[in-house]
Amino acid sequence: MKKYDVVVVGGGFAGVAAALAAAREGAAVLIVEKGNCLGGVAVHALVNPFMTTSAKINGERTSLAAGLFKTIHKKLEERNAVSGISFLEEELKFILNEMVCDANVDLLFHAYIFNVQKDGGSIQSISVATKSGVVEITADYFIDATGDAQVAYLADCPTVLGRESDHLCQPMTLCFRLGNVDVEKFMASYGKLNTAYKQALEKGAFINPRENILAFKTPIPNVIHFNTTRVVKMDPTSPEQVTKAEIIARKQVYEIYEFMKQHDCGLENSYVMMTAAEIGVRESRMIVGDYVLTEQDCKACTKFDDSIAACNYDIDIHNPEGTGTSIYSFSETEFYTIPYRSLIPQKVNNMLVAGRCISSDHGAQASYRIMPTVCTIGEAAGTAIGLAVKNQCGVRDIDVKQLQRTLKDNAAFIGIDIR
Ligand SMILES: Cc1cc2nc3c(=O)[nH]c(=O)nc-3n(C[C@H](O)[C@H](O)[C@H](O)COP(=O)(O)OP(=O)(O)OC[C@H]3O[C@@H](n4cnc5c(N)ncnc54)[C@H](O)[C@@H]3O)c2cc1C
Repeated sequence: MKKYDVVVVGGGFAGVAAALAAAREGAAVLIVEKGNCLGGVAVHALVNPFMTTSAKINGERTSLAAGLFKTIHKKLEERNAVSGISFLEEELKFILNEMVCDANVDLLFHAYIFNVQKDGGSIQSISVATKSGVVEITADYFIDATGDAQVAYLADCPTVLGRESDHLCQPMTLCFRLGNVDVEKFMASYGKLNTAYKQALEKGAFINPRENILAFKTPIPNVIHFNTTRVVKMDPTSPEQVTKAEIIARKQVYEIYEFMKQHDCGLENSYVMMTAAEIGVRESRMIVGDYVLTEQDCKACTKFDDSIAACNYDIDIHNPEGTGTSIYSFSETEFYTIPYRSLIPQKVNNMLVAGRCISSDHGAQASYRIMPTVCTIGEAAGTAIGLAVKNQCGVRDIDVKQLQRTLKDNAAFIGIDIR
């Protein structure tokens, strides 16, 4: 394979934005993805809808996820593929393919990274498993957008798993959809159905510990989306435990479906239309980078000098041990920023990390992990690596002010004035 300026591992929102941004700076970029399409958990795990992050700034409602996320959202709108905050993931796959191909970013699907070759602090190449065996891919720079900090882990960069006290992660969820639903009737029955669910949960009727049924309308007629299974106390980086989690979650899908069908709530002629191709992992490994963004930083609405993105989505923690979800909401005029240093893993000088596995604690991750915000983090990582390519320098040696200016010039919102 040819040598690239930049290899991005992982084609989720963070990876796609990183690749597009690096290519925009003139770099030759390859995305390596284990699946068959772009979109990450939005497509592989059916995660939907987009959670939103916006603040009133000088009296005006401002989206904190601007830049490339706005472009992608606009393209979804143009194809009638969004309704409110819900979107059609098939359209998303198509749009992301088009954007990446138009930007001359190369793609390698069905390729699973399992090894990294390093020379001191520099990653030289990665090894991926493919149908034809092992393929070595060399590049000057790398971006780890695997969600699991997989490249950083393989490169021996320090990582942590889950919350600080016991390393438990937020629960995993297998999302599913029901078809042929009387949607109006279902939505009208939602409150009553949840009351009955809670009573049954208290009596121990379910293996699913989740406190309520969480369902969303979709842009597709007669289809309801469920984000309601919950598998706790499993390590998302252990293949055995993830396998167990998939099996438990599938049981939960049918236990909740059977329960709902016993109630008069519009499911009379429904069927389980689809479960996601893979269980959704909210949290797993995160790097310990040059700065660890904390829940306290978020709550204090800290604005870092090296800000590259901003967010004020709730600190939304699904109980890693069982029932309950704790939510800390920001006031509508407040937000925190994400520092560039939280994208820099230790022990290497030619890689950045983007997405839900940047350097932070459990509480901070529970806020910035939403799709719009990881997209902004990816855009920043790609832009920074693009500047490193131009200057042939390490990720710690780029001009952060130039990074911030470039992001702003490309309509990103970084949360601070940089005059
Ligand atoms: C159940 C659930 C519900 C959620 N609900 C919402 C919600 O309602 N709204 C919202 O905005 N956010 C929600 N989130 C959060 C959000 O979806 C994720 O945090 C975000 O999409 C992560 O994006 P990412 O690009 O960092 O990682 P991912 O989307 O996980 O992308 C990582 C990519 O890397 C690839 N990859 C991983 N390992 C390898 C490997 N070894 N080799 C090659 N490729 C690899 C994966 O296939 C994947 O495509 C939810 C998450 C979950 C799991």
